[in-house]
Amino acid sequence: MKKVFRPTRALFALISLLALLLTTPAATDASTSVAFPSECEVGKPFVVALSSHEPFDSPTVKWLGRTVSLDVEPGREGFVSYGLLGSFVRDVKPGEYPLEFEFSRGERLRVTCQVVLKPGQYEEEQLTVEPKMVTPAKKDIPRIQKETALSYAARNTMTVRRRWTSPPARPVEGVFTGAYGSHRIFNGVPKGYHNGVDFRAPVGTPILAPFAGTVVLVGDHYYSGKSVYIDSGNGVISMLFHMSEIGVKQGQRVEKGQVVGKSGATGRVTGPHLHYSLSLAGQYVDSAPLFGTSITAMLGQAPTRHEVVLP
Ligand SMILES: [Zn+2]
Repeated sequence: MKKVFRPTRALFALISLLALLLTTPAATDASTSVAFPSECEVGKPFVVALSSHEPFDSPTVKWLGRTVSLDVEPGREGFVSYGLLGSFVRDVKPGEYPLEFEFSRGERLRVTCQVVLKPGQYEEEQLTVEPKMVTPAKKDIPRIQKETALSYAARNTMTVRRRWTSPPARPVEGVFTGAYGSHRIFNGVPKGYHNGVDFRAPVGTPILAPFAGTVVLVGDHYYSGKSVYIDSGNGVISMLFHMSEIGVKQGQRVEKGQVVGKSGATGRVTGPHLHYSLSLAGQYVDSAPLFGTSITAMLGQAPTRHEVVLP
């Protein structure tokens, strides 16, 4: 009897081992992971991703006090959500900051990661403009306050559908003439940091939408002149300033590369150019690193970390 029993036990053990070998890859297939940079320079944009072989709902990522709603898209191995984040060099000091993903799968799940923001290299720039652009007249203050509120609301639009991608379309052909993050001194008076990039653009140059999206604000504003704000989802807002002509209406859908106006010299300028600001969840970032790269390339860059959060 015992002689029969032993092979049966051995066979049972073998079957168990085979079953384990077969189920281990299946368990890996169901994994959920996050990708994010373990370090990044202050002012630079970065991509984060939440991916899973299993469906999930209502993903968000919390960064620098803002909760960003993410889209869920079919991915190479199931489902993926991408976020584009960054920090404004004026407001954020180098250091370690939490990055918090949340999503629902039956219950609400949370994953907290850490991103180290390293100091960046930014120049000082001396500019000469009309005196009223440094110290506005009393009568212009209510107008400026109203426009600041409109701009703030547009810049903080949060929609779920992802319409941004990388690389963006270059808004004009012209070369970069003003870098993001430079400390600007207007007529000898320090006036904060340059929150976008400038492109050389003679008056009348067609300006293209860097990303697809919806026009959330147009206006002729005191400092930014004729301006167009485009929401591309997940807190990604493009602002195109100092135009001579606006070619779109508020509420209009635009495609990446679509003409939205013509360049000019309206507002606080030293001459005709295009100013492009990119706001990510309320943080003004440097858009320059995005030109000529892709989401996959950004995620593939060292020091991106990939972490399995659920087996
Ligand atoms: Zn500018």
